Amino acid sequence: MEDKIRRAADLIQASRHMVAFTGAGHSTASGIPDFRSPGSGLWEKANPMLVASIWAFRLDPQRFYDWIRPLAEVMLTAAPNSAHYALSDLEARGFLQAIITQNIDNLHQRAGSRRVLELHGHMREATCVRCYEIVPVDPAFEQKVRAGKVPYCHCGGVYKPNVILFGEQLPVRVLNEAMAEARRCDLMLIAGSSLEVTPAADIPILAKESGARTILVNLQPTDFDSRADVVIHGDVCEVLPRIVAAVE
Ligand SMILES: [Zn+2]
Repeated sequence: MEDKIRRAADLIQASRHMVAFTGAGHSTASGIPDFRSPGSGLWEKANPMLVASIWAFRLDPQRFYDWIRPLAEVMLTAAPNSAHYALSDLEARGFLQAIITQNIDNLHQRAGSRRVLELHGHMREATCVRCYEIVPVDPAFEQKVRAGKVPYCHCGGVYKPNVILFGEQLPVRVLNEAMAEARRCDLMLIAGSSLEVTPAADIPILAKESGARTILVNLQPTDFDSRADVVIHGDVCEVLPRIVAAVE
């Protein structure tokens, strides 16, 4: 383990343009369940394909809001963990140029990271599905959802949080920026992602194929393990701060 941490730190120090790629495993220590992966608590309660798809949302927004309410509550009260702070520290020290994340929990930004590309959207805003008006998810909006109501636009359409549901395309501008970063970087640190959700999981492959070195930190083995330059199976909250501390 110590050897691998040293090698990872050396790669970071030698890099010119480093990008991080993070997934659900990055936030589990903050209490955020992994709602897109099978086996997580939220799959067992309700199949997200049935409630968290764009078709289900259009058919029954009340059911969607009933499902997402506890998840939204957890995200509002969750705090960034040591893995989030390790990455914001790297960015502040000039070693990290961007974070590409599959997470919608806002925790990278709350830990102080500035350049965060959110492939699956976020909950800071909502969009009317009829007139496409975008509104901030402010305390009044939250209050409505907390009270069990469906938030409606003045035009009569339902507001949908700006998270990417099953059946929706990833946001084009964000995806293009993420792909540009993957092509441009000479080092990608993949942390807390099992790389099972495509097309997001294609980003590290694109980085590798464009010539970047890769460091993979994840609790479980992944299909990418054999291609990474450094693989550490461990808790991101423990491993990332150790790697960052070893970067001089
Ligand atoms: Zn509207």
